Amino acid sequence: MIDYDGCFSSAARTMQASAIRKMGGLGGRVPDLISFAPGFPAPELFAWEEFRDVAQSVLSGSDPSVLQYGSTRGYRPLVEALAQILSERGIAATPEEILVTTGSQQALDLTARVFIDPGSVVLVELPTYTGGITAFNNAQATLVGVGQDSDGIDLEDLDRVTARERAAGRRIAFLYVVPNFQNPTGVLVSLEKRQRLLEWAARRNVLIIEDDPYGALYFDDVAAAADTRPIKADDRDGRVVYLSSFSKTVAPGFRVAWVAAPAAITAKLEVAKQSADLCTGGLDQRIVYEVWKRGVLTARLPKLRSHYQEQRTVMTRALRRELGNLVSWPEPKGGFFLWAAFPERVNTDALLTRALARAVVYVAGSAFYVDGRSSNLARLAFSAPSAARIEEGVRRLAGAVREELDVSTSSVFAAPGAPGRPASP
Ligand code: PMP
Repeated sequence: MIDYDGCFSSAARTMQASAIRKMGGLGGRVPDLISFAPGFPAPELFAWEEFRDVAQSVLSGSDPSVLQYGSTRGYRPLVEALAQILSERGIAATPEEILVTTGSQQALDLTARVFIDPGSVVLVELPTYTGGITAFNNAQATLVGVGQDSDGIDLEDLDRVTARERAAGRRIAFLYVVPNFQNPTGVLVSLEKRQRLLEWAARRNVLIIEDDPYGALYFDDVAAAADTRPIKADDRDGRVVYLSSFSKTVAPGFRVAWVAAPAAITAKLEVAKQSADLCTGGLDQRIVYEVWKRGVLTARLPKLRSHYQEQRTVMTRALRRELGNLVSWPEPKGGFFLWAAFPERVNTDALLTRALARAVVYVAGSAFYVDGRSSNLARLAFSAPSAARIEEGVRRLAGAVREELDVSTSSVFAAPGAPGRPASP
């Protein structure tokens, strides 16, 4: 027998699988499972007909470059379209500053490769996106958490942590933030705080990685396009590396996303991408480009916004109805996620077993924390299930929460002094 563990690099041995991806495998094993776990877009909103039309014309055979290797930088008409999309978001970027990536997940991986040395500090929010955690961990970063307020990252804590890490002689590679409808909390960072973040970055001389897959999906009952203005739009010094993606607005199956960064950084990311995949799929890039050029994306955005807004409302109403004041959350103003807080004695890692027994699943809050904490928090994605499934899923989840509370209450009464479940710190 070969000892394969001995074959792996030390980096590979410490690689962590995404907690959310692992849960993806449950679908086939639990009959009638309702999943609030993955942040999948609603498939009925994909522009199937337009994709078919575009694919047919792109695959007519008249342009052999469609199925040929393409440039690492990206399909040039798409890169130019991205410059226009960015300018509509307030970001002035030339094609030299733009790189097409195979999903934003690749952009996170490339970012990790070009900025992180083993042991470099990456500052992340508590909580933060799991895909960021895995990408930065895989490059052997030391992930250091910064607290959050109701409008995103806590700037005082950020400055305190920065000073502490620098005083300890550690190199800070960058700060990673998701200012628009953060994954997992759904929180929107205020415009004032964005300005102060830029001031902090200049004062402390730190790069910011701004990850923005959800900015276009604001709910117009609580937020407007102006509230989602990227930090990058006001980045006069060239400190912000901006990531965005077509995954949530066109379809994630195309794996088309992009980076906008100062030209020197983009060039370095491009070199890193050469060894990752040579280029993003040319067919995918052309389909996304054509869909954009024909105005399909722009025309559909209002529909996507109102759909996800309605899904959010269905979920919040169901939670209120089923759990009353046993659950609270920051109101999602856009995006795909609701960050639910149950009573402190409910540990959402433990609750998963009960939830699964009732065929409903979510992502426990612990997946999003780099400080190893377990808590009473859970990420519920309202994006993919139908309204009826959201209602039924919340009913099942509420049953699991009530059962957990009954059990923990009765065990406290039955055995005075018995240790309770760990609460959120
Ligand atoms: N960043 C964030 C914050 C995300 O939520 C996601 C998708 N869940 C990604 C990056 C990756 O998206 P993609 O690779 O599909 O562009």
